[in-house]
Amino acid sequence: MSVADILDGCAAELAHDTGPAIAPARPVLRERGQREVFCGLTGIIWLHRKMQDAFFLVVGSRTCAHLLQSAAGVMIFAEPRFATAIMEERDLAGMVDAQDELDRVVNRLLERRPDIKTLFLVGSCPSEVIKLDLAKAAQRLGAVHMPRVRILNYSGSGIETTFTQGEDACLSALVPVMPALAADAPKELLIVGSLPDIVEDQFLRLFAEMGIAKVGCLPARNARDLPSVGPGTRYLLAQPFLGETAMALEGRGAQRIEALFPFGVDGTSDWLRAAAEAFGIDRALTEQVIAPGRARAARALANLRPQLEGKRITFLPDSQLEVPLARFLQDELGMELVEVGTPYLHRAHLARELDRFGPNVRLSEGQHLDRQLDRVRADRPDITVCGLGLANPLEGEGLTTKWAIELVFSPIHGFDQAADLAELFARPLRRRDMLEV
Ligand code: SF4
Repeated sequence: MSVADILDGCAAELAHDTGPAIAPARPVLRERGQREVFCGLTGIIWLHRKMQDAFFLVVGSRTCAHLLQSAAGVMIFAEPRFATAIMEERDLAGMVDAQDELDRVVNRLLERRPDIKTLFLVGSCPSEVIKLDLAKAAQRLGAVHMPRVRILNYSGSGIETTFTQGEDACLSALVPVMPALAADAPKELLIVGSLPDIVEDQFLRLFAEMGIAKVGCLPARNARDLPSVGPGTRYLLAQPFLGETAMALEGRGAQRIEALFPFGVDGTSDWLRAAAEAFGIDRALTEQVIAPGRARAARALANLRPQLEGKRITFLPDSQLEVPLARFLQDELGMELVEVGTPYLHRAHLARELDRFGPNVRLSEGQHLDRQLDRVRADRPDITVCGLGLANPLEGEGLTTKWAIELVFSPIHGFDQAADLAELFARPLRRRDMLEV
């Protein structure tokens, strides 16, 4: 089925991109309808592991608490660094002052847990519905507990958002409290987006070998240890879902380094080279530094390519990682992209990625669940990347699936993770082949 067939057959809004970022001829199928995604609270699961002095207090319902506990597991031996202040019926009915209740919960928490240095008050659907002003609460409580604890707020609500936006909202809440980089200070590099420590260390080592002296990370491992930002900051996005954070950084004078996202050999090389170029590093030195990683990754991918080459793949909109991962699978493993759906298409941040797509790739933004499932059934791709809730029904129809959320929880960036990333797609296909024998 071609792009034209789909567009003729559905009432979804079709837009041709006219901005300079992507070729004007590439159609984008825009859909609005029923969605099937996790909410932004999910980000707490990886953010609380990354920022080791931070605590995430969700102001929400029992549903929010259940989501967090079942997704993150219950820590028996460690003091947890997230919790839910559960809003009861009387809060929702306005019978008690929810702000007073919240003050009480926060004061008790901070008394019991002197290790907390940054506290995030995280909004949810119920707190948004009753318009509980968490910004005001953060300000009021911050005035009491600063300097020992910094109190910030953001929303992880599932209303009109997708799950990786939780990280975007959290990081953009940190930007205003980042220290200012002096106007006459030398340029500094900032890596933006939460990465597993092991991956972050690999990148920091490579930048150090290139001679880039000062490299900060947002989020930092200690939330109180924030990197500086200012007009001398050149930032590299490590994740494609950080539109708000990027805007906040630019509001403080930082400039984005345009690059592919660091997935696979090409993406990682382009990302590292772009930073090196922005810092005036000698091209020969850059190539010398990245050559061993490139070679290792290329060798590891060559082993997996026969399993993936020619296989057809559809991404349903979920993690916002879809576009760069699709580019990696197409360019480096020879997979055929049938449809690449993403909840939001950030044209500027994804421009270089989209330029790599072949002419027949169907690109969709937003979600209309029924239509998308109909297209998957008509296309019958070899593998469909989708949310947890869709995987079982699709498997039941004989389609092979991959959980999108697993891609967010796994170390997949950089040279040394390129083969692990490919393996995440190869494994379900191998399993399918074994079951078919
Ligand atoms: S924030 Fe909203 S979508 Fe997320 S668990 Fe709570 S009620 Fe559900």
